[in-house]
Amino acid sequence: MKNRTGKNNKFLFVAVGIVVIALVCVVVKINFGSRKSTDNKKSEQKAQLHDSITGYTEQYFEDGILYVDDNYMRFCSNAANEDGLICARPNCKHQKSRTEECGAYVDNINTTGFAKRGDKIYYIGAGDTGEDYSLYSEDLEGQNRKKLVKLPKANYIFEALYHDNTVYIAYMYKNYTDDASKTTLGIYKYDTGSEQGNVYFETKAYGFSFDGMVMGKDTLYMSYVCSNVSNSDVLKHKSDKYYERKHSRKFVKGLDVKSGKEKVSLDGYGNNNTLLYVSGKLFYNTGKDNLYYDENTRETQKISGDNLIPVKSTDKQYAYFMSYDKKTKKRTYLRYDTSNDEMNIIAQGDYILCAVYEDKVYLSNAEGEKTEYSYIALYDFVKGDITGVKKYKSMWG
Ligand SMILES: [Zn+2]
Repeated sequence: MKNRTGKNNKFLFVAVGIVVIALVCVVVKINFGSRKSTDNKKSEQKAQLHDSITGYTEQYFEDGILYVDDNYMRFCSNAANEDGLICARPNCKHQKSRTEECGAYVDNINTTGFAKRGDKIYYIGAGDTGEDYSLYSEDLEGQNRKKLVKLPKANYIFEALYHDNTVYIAYMYKNYTDDASKTTLGIYKYDTGSEQGNVYFETKAYGFSFDGMVMGKDTLYMSYVCSNVSNSDVLKHKSDKYYERKHSRKFVKGLDVKSGKEKVSLDGYGNNNTLLYVSGKLFYNTGKDNLYYDENTRETQKISGDNLIPVKSTDKQYAYFMSYDKKTKKRTYLRYDTSNDEMNIIAQGDYILCAVYEDKVYLSNAEGEKTEYSYIALYDFVKGDITGVKKYKSMWG
């Protein structure tokens, strides 16, 4: 799986072989806009866009899942029940072309940091040097691509959080020609309205691994692991195999949304690359314990010792979790009610619970080489009925 097993697999790039379905030769236009009329009314009432919900190589929305696979942007459309390319160009060869003439294909696209916002798709593209990245926008059919801004020097882009008109991009930079130099972890902030950006946060240590970001009330939360010993220090202490571990620390930090100044520091991490924020509570882990930090009381509360995996969601009352039993190979889905501090089991199943977005639950297969996405109505899911899971029909390979 792409991102469900641990922290360091943000560095794993999964090469997925393409199977070209030669039989399919109609041009498929994936219509992002088609929703039921009730859904349209609902979204008109919404003043703001939801924050992006990222599962690393995929992003979840009310109307489907946008993801990048082998430089092609794909969209799993709930309306069409299809997993297809976003390209709408007539007579396009799509996956045979591997050129940007295909609206879905992007050279050097970064597999993290993209999102669909309103009538645009934003994504990050790599430059030629391996240290330069830029933020781009395009329309929903992959056309009218525009470079918005060059990002600070980076070797790696961890992820981006899209909140209202603002994009927070977490990056890492190390000068590899200077062995003694520390690594920089930074967050670049870009406003898509004013088209202005700046380095919002920066810290230095010997190496980072990043767990994720989530927006709270006037606070941007993030989590990372860093080490305060250099590679040469580790080599000098070869006999102590725990030396590096002893000198690494896990942090959950809360930054003032305006200034970027640190105002919360917790000892813990975002389990499975997920920090979850629901109704004034920030859910995170310390060891196997699931806890939350209450923004109002500024106190922490343990809710489980079972190392539950938090599930990203837009929900304003419930925090969703998943656990995995290695013996039975079954997953258990749970939800925690923030209004009365009760945890309840919803159901058991084989699916990986990816995200809860409004009235939909997104799932993926746990077995098999290729990730296959599916969804189910939240209404059925919370009753424990997962018989109605709809798998997207794969189009164009
Ligand atoms: Zn195409």
